[in-house]
Amino acid sequence: MVKRNMDVPWSYTGDNGPEYWHTLCDWYEKGASYPYQSPIALDHQQVEPLDLGTTGLTFTYQTERFTEKEFKNTIHFIPFECESYVSFKGKDYALTDIHYHLPSEHVIDGEQKPVEIHLVHMDHEGNNLVVAVLCEIVEGILAEGPLRKATVWDMDRHLEVFDPTLFLPEQRSHFHYVGSLTTPPTKGPINWFVFDQPGKLSRTFLSQFKEEILQGNNRPLQDKKGRAVYYVSERK
Ligand SMILES: [Zn+2]
Repeated sequence: MVKRNMDVPWSYTGDNGPEYWHTLCDWYEKGASYPYQSPIALDHQQVEPLDLGTTGLTFTYQTERFTEKEFKNTIHFIPFECESYVSFKGKDYALTDIHYHLPSEHVIDGEQKPVEIHLVHMDHEGNNLVVAVLCEIVEGILAEGPLRKATVWDMDRHLEVFDPTLFLPEQRSHFHYVGSLTTPPTKGPINWFVFDQPGKLSRTFLSQFKEEILQGNNRPLQDKKGRAVYYVSERK
């Protein structure tokens, strides 16, 4: 008898590690039954070009208030008002959560990066859209580039004000494919957008959020099952 409980504990190792997630409860089992799972290996040599014109992914991010919370084996940055959003194929998806995985979950041209940031969005019907940025870790506090303003988090107030554009690389070319959530219930379909230019994340920033404890919170690569992966060049 499998448990029907949204709070069933899961982890990245041992008896409730990734290979057992689908056995832990009905909800996880249902999510895992979606055939096109994430993450997958991405390769510039195995893509189809995609040009959706003005209906391609566009960002309308703005400075807003975030709080931080630890759950689901990572640290999440949650916006209070969800004012930032992206648009894709005529639909708007509000930014609802930013979190990260150490090391990266997606692999580009056979290369894994130390960190992968996920910017999770949701439309009015509850459909998710995830933007991923693979990052290098740089020592010290960033004087410029991503996260320069959010390098030091206000741990007393659990509140920080920043523009989530800080997490995005300058160049917006990206892979696009349809997959699943990478954490239980691993449900799909989810529209994925993975930037191919690496971002930079400050060690000082990460170390505030138990970097050592969270190390290894990446789901193993999943079978592509012949699905199409598209590549969107940066639009001028
Ligand atoms: Zn994630």
